[in-house]
Amino acid sequence: MRYSPAQQALLEQYVKKILAAPVYELAVRTPLQPAPALSETLGNRILLKREDLQPTFSFKIRGACNRLVQLSDVQKARGVITASAGNHAQGVALAARELGIAATIVMPATTPELKVLGVSSRGAEAVLHGDSFPFALAHALQLAEQTGRTFVPPFDDPDVIAGQGTVAMEILHQHQGPLDAIFVPVGGGGLIAGIAAYVKYLRPEVRIVGVESEHSACLKAALQAGERVVLPSVGTFADGVAVAQIGAYGFEVCRFCVDEVITVSNDELCAAIKNIYDDTRSITEPSGALAVAGIKQYVARTGARNQTLIAIDSGANINFDSLRHVAERAAAGGIVA
Ligand SMILES: *Cc1c(COP(=O)(O)O)cnc(C)c1O
Repeated sequence: MRYSPAQQALLEQYVKKILAAPVYELAVRTPLQPAPALSETLGNRILLKREDLQPTFSFKIRGACNRLVQLSDVQKARGVITASAGNHAQGVALAARELGIAATIVMPATTPELKVLGVSSRGAEAVLHGDSFPFALAHALQLAEQTGRTFVPPFDDPDVIAGQGTVAMEILHQHQGPLDAIFVPVGGGGLIAGIAAYVKYLRPEVRIVGVESEHSACLKAALQAGERVVLPSVGTFADGVAVAQIGAYGFEVCRFCVDEVITVSNDELCAAIKNIYDDTRSITEPSGALAVAGIKQYVARTGARNQTLIAIDSGANINFDSLRHVAERAAAGGIVA
């Protein structure tokens, strides 16, 4: 057997939670769609899981919905508080409004304006605090303590992980033929943990490849060290994944379920945004393009041909003003051998 009984039991727990997660009150089943131009250029069959098409333009609505539904009536009445780089914030804001729960959301002062608007326009209270996620997190935890509101973690929570894992449930339904690898963007590790737990339980031969920004590669650092480490600094171009330490629950799964981690540069992200645009006419945010950037690097390095590779296209919340910068840099990072 590939895994120890304890590991197998952990995966089974997640699979059960994923199968039971009531995310479809708010989340939608997104398409798994071929990327013809990328497939042609790379000599492999590339499919995009279009999580940028969720109601909040990222998959985070899945985990937020699953977590909030599980609260007790007393907890719901007291309200929730969270910290987020922006996309989890919008997921919590939408789920809280639908469930009639008051929500306060702490975001770093560097959060793109459109993500802040995405929170306040959905009726949640937006608090801007600190220059990066760890400062916002500390402030949110303190506020939770003071107010008695329930803290809803953006990634380090089994129900959030299980909510995100519903992405994998859909993928295995939507694609039942040969599948070589799934490329997953990594911030705090909630998405990849949910996907890896589900896929490794059912189809352990499918490779799970994490893709991180080289400016926030906290999973790679943790896997190398054999324990969770705190990065001394974090770059925020890919603001959706600007996290300094992988979550504890996620790492428990990732340490035996993630086959490899690839890191990509900001220029490679800009090029990948263009690749996705060319195939879909949709614009993703930098974090949303991580998986495609990772596939390009993987194919260039391994020489893979005629494989079926899936990229999670995870989000589309980018300020319109940033597009000029993205377009300029895309030219620098795009060349595929
Ligand atoms: C949150 C997020 C990620 C990373 O998810 P984690 O669960 O934090 O690893 C990737 N892409 C986008 C667009 C996100 O919002």
